Amino acid sequence: MSRVYDRVAYIGLGLIASSMIHAGRRAGLQGEIVGTARSAETRAIAAEDGLCDVVAETAAEAVKDADLVVLCVPVGAMGAVAEEIGPHLKPGCTVSDVGSVKRAVIEAVKPHLPEGVHFIPAHPLAGTEHSGPRSGFAELFENRYTLIVPEGDTDPQALARLERFWAGMGAHVELMEPEHHDLVLMVTSHAPHLIAYTMVGVADDLRRVTDSEVIKYSAAGFRDFTRIAASDPTMWRDVFLNNREATMEILGRFIEELMRLQRAIRKGDGDLLHEYFTRTRAIRRGIIQAGQDTSAPDFGRGHGQGQSKG
Ligand code: NAP
Repeated sequence: MSRVYDRVAYIGLGLIASSMIHAGRRAGLQGEIVGTARSAETRAIAAEDGLCDVVAETAAEAVKDADLVVLCVPVGAMGAVAEEIGPHLKPGCTVSDVGSVKRAVIEAVKPHLPEGVHFIPAHPLAGTEHSGPRSGFAELFENRYTLIVPEGDTDPQALARLERFWAGMGAHVELMEPEHHDLVLMVTSHAPHLIAYTMVGVADDLRRVTDSEVIKYSAAGFRDFTRIAASDPTMWRDVFLNNREATMEILGRFIEELMRLQRAIRKGDGDLLHEYFTRTRAIRRGIIQAGQDTSAPDFGRGHGQGQSKG
């Protein structure tokens, strides 16, 4: 694979940025890699591990002369970062992001970018419950989708270049409208995370079930919930606060379905339950057929790689 960008700046050096750095380096997609993070501690780790060729003290410094700037910070921090880097961007460069929500990020970032800079939001549907500069790995995006969310007037060459970059990291690239993205992700990722947080919270609240019993007898279902509920609190707080409309829509439907099942259980309506669970089982089969998971039993004991998709 040949080089796509001569100089790439990563703002934020957590799971997603460090995985992009490893994947991009392995495939030879990027020339010089510049990175920065909010804390001196993360910057020191990045320098010590050689994660970046250059570790900059500030985001403004990091973006100088970069051909691609990737915002890899929590959704709620995107606007402030864009405001800081705006005046320092190279004319003609591309600014992208990896945020789990798209409409709110577009509204927060776009006003701060000067004319002549291409802003092309993106979201890799890959992740784990781990975070930080040492959590990344080159295979994270392989065989996973990355959704690119261009606006109507996006420069086709800049878009094709960003698509090439993601495809070079092993991702399947697809284009999507921001509102549609936010609704689809609410169903496939955000609501399941909220439900997992709730279920683990309920178990924690049940005084009859002691902590040791929850841990000792945790079966596959609960273990899977705890893995998902261990995801980064800041990232997930920001996801819900910035995708409120879709959250309300999907939670409303979820509560209706839950009450339907509650009524069926109360009335002893086994047919309804059986029909319902048969339908949901078919969805699992569809995911396996699409190559997005394996049918091998795992019981939540896998490495957790690529399983949580912010
Ligand atoms: P992460 O591992 O927690 O890393 C976040 C990075 O952002 C850290 O370097 C952190 O700096 C920096 N940061 C945090 N708050 C900041 C602020 N207020 N201002 C400036 N920098 C700040 O996070 P991640 O999992 O890579 O997630 C990054 C983005 O990717 C998020 O927008 C998330 O929605 C999206 N995403 C995540 C996943 C996932 O599963 N994790 C999947 C797809 C997309 P310090 O280290 O110095 O604190």
